Amino acid sequence: MSPPSLIDTHPNLAGTAPVALSYELFPPRSPAAAESLWRTIGELEATDPDYVSVTYGASGSNRNTAVELINRLVQETTLRPLAHLTCVGNSPEELAEIIGELLDVGVRGILALRGDQPKDGGVPPEGSLRYAQDLIELIRRVEQRRSALLCAGKVAVGVAAYPTRHPESPSVAHDVEVLLAKQRSGADFAITQVFFHTEQYADLLTRARRAGVTIPIIPGVMPLTSIRRVTRLGELTGVEPDPALMERLAAADSDTERTRIGVSATVDLANAALDAGAPGLHLYTFNEHTAALDVLDKLALPRPRRNHQRSAGRRQLAS
Ligand code: FAD
Repeated sequence: MSPPSLIDTHPNLAGTAPVALSYELFPPRSPAAAESLWRTIGELEATDPDYVSVTYGASGSNRNTAVELINRLVQETTLRPLAHLTCVGNSPEELAEIIGELLDVGVRGILALRGDQPKDGGVPPEGSLRYAQDLIELIRRVEQRRSALLCAGKVAVGVAAYPTRHPESPSVAHDVEVLLAKQRSGADFAITQVFFHTEQYADLLTRARRAGVTIPIIPGVMPLTSIRRVTRLGELTGVEPDPALMERLAAADSDTERTRIGVSATVDLANAALDAGAPGLHLYTFNEHTAALDVLDKLALPRPRRNHQRSAGRRQLAS
C-alpha cells in the first residue's frame, strides 16, 4: 500500500472550501437607471464577491451597454466581471469579434449561453450558432489563438444548468445530457436557472453527478420579496413559482412583512442548496442591493478575507 499523499493530508486542504459569492447585474437602460445601478454596485462591492455577472441581450441587442458596464467595472472597481454572451442570431465571425473585444477589456470569465429564441417564432439567420455548446467551442478557439496573451489568466467558461426542465427540452434527463456535453466542450462551471423549491437544486446535483458532470454547479438564487418580479421571472423562464409562497406574499399586510417572508424563504432555499453541497451562491439582484444584502446578512457564509487597499488607491487616483 502506498503512503498517504502529502497533498491529501495537508491541513489547509482537508477542510471545507470557502463558499463562492457572486451577483447578477444587467446593463442599465437609462441614465437614471445607471445612477441607481452604480449605487448598488458600491454596496455590493463592499461585500467582496468573487465576481459579478453582466447579462447580455439575445442577438447582441445591448452589446454596447454591456461592454461599457464591464469596462467600467474593470477600470473603476475591484470587482471581477463575468460576461454573459448569447449566440442565437449571431455568426461565428460576429461572436469571435465580441469575444475578442471582451478579452481586450480584461474579461477572463464568460457565461456561454444560447439565448432565448426570437419571440415572433422567427428562425435565426442561416449560419448563426445553434447551441451554447457551439459557443463554448468558439470561445476555446479564440482563446487558443491568443494563448500567449493569456499566460496570466485563462478564460473560465460557465454555462446554464436547469433544476427544472428547460421549456424546450423533452426531459430533465436530456438537460443533464446537454450539461455533460457542455462540460466535454470545455465548460468550467455552471450557474443554475432560478428555482423555487428547496429540493430542486439537490435533485439536479444528484442527476448531474450520476451522469458524470464534475464541474461546480452554482445555484442561482433570486430574492423572493416581490410578487411582480417572481411572477414575471416565472413567465420568462417557464419556472413555476411556489404557490404557497405567492399566497403568503399576497396575504402580507405591509411591505416590511412581505420582505420578511421573502427573505426568509430565500434564505431557506439558499441553505438547502448549501446543505446539498453547493460550492457557492449566485444572487440575481435585478440591479438592487437591499434584498440581496438582507439575504446575505442572514446566511453568514464562510468567506475569505481580502485586502481592499487596491480599490481605495484606485479611487484616490480617480478623484
Ligand atoms: P443550450 O444549452 O444551447 O440549450 C437550449 C435548448 O437546446 C435546451 O432545450 C437544450 O436541451 C437543447 N440542446 C442544447 N444542446 C443540444 C444538442 N446538442 N442537441 C439537442 N438539443 C440540445 N438569456 C439571455 O438572453 N441573456 C442572458 O444574459 C442570460 N443569462 C442567463 C444566465 C443564467 C444563469 C441562465 C440559467 C440563463 C440565462 N439566460 C440568458 C437564458 C438562456 O439564454 C435560456 O435559458 C435559453 O433558452 C437557453 O440557453 P442555454 O445556454 O441553456 O442553451
